[in-house]
Amino acid sequence: MKIYLSADIEGITGSIHWNEGSADQPEYRYFQEQMTKEVAAACEGALAAGADEVLVKDAHYTARNIIPDMLPEKTKLLRGWTEAPEMMVAGIDEGYDGAVFIGYHAAAGSNASPLSHTMNPKLQSVTCNGEPLSEFDINAMTAAYYKVPVLFVSGDAGLCKAAKAAYPGIHTVAVNEGLGGGAVCLHPHTAIVKIREAVENAVKGYKKAGLCPMPERFRIEICYKEHAMAAKALNYPGIAHKDDTTVVYEADDYMDVMKMFFWLL
Ligand SMILES: [Zn+2]
Repeated sequence: MKIYLSADIEGITGSIHWNEGSADQPEYRYFQEQMTKEVAAACEGALAAGADEVLVKDAHYTARNIIPDMLPEKTKLLRGWTEAPEMMVAGIDEGYDGAVFIGYHAAAGSNASPLSHTMNPKLQSVTCNGEPLSEFDINAMTAAYYKVPVLFVSGDAGLCKAAKAAYPGIHTVAVNEGLGGGAVCLHPHTAIVKIREAVENAVKGYKKAGLCPMPERFRIEICYKEHAMAAKALNYPGIAHKDDTTVVYEADDYMDVMKMFFWLL
């Protein structure tokens, strides 16, 4: 049994400020370690549930955050950006039995996390058929494209609530509860214990997990904070103008959507 794991940092326990995810800031070291510990706990849970292999994708910023020797030995770590349209779930394919997400956060514009954003903090919002899209949603659809069920997500309470509503059967651990520019956060050790236990349970039930539901047609709207970015986006094939900061893209094949996201988010 093979498990794919993607990890971000803005939904790691205690993370509430951009500096905490920036390698050039002194606060970063602590959060880099906590991110690694949460990923390691998830890997241990997956291995205890019978996984033979766990591929970990470091999926924040430089993609060089996770401290490799703190992960269990049966894991493999994908560092850096492959420049494939799968982005934060690069390397995923039909061979995986389930996907696990650690450290994820609410969609751009949401009050559920002080760090809510979708791929790029310069975006005001991204929607699919009128519903807000988080990075987790984008990656869950990519997993579904490759027929891999999403088993688990940890991050802020708002994201976990949205994930439970959209993907019945998913296991979640809410580590932070956003309140405007702040958040109430679990104790970091408590979060690690909960993640290990919940991932073990989620992976044990992988055969019962369903795929993330995929729409038949995708109508994507991207609203940029700066009008110049929308003007640039209009050069991508198939992109239409909605207003000076918002562009629209429609497709039936999610691979086309992934490629568009890769260039425009
Ligand atoms: Zn992120």
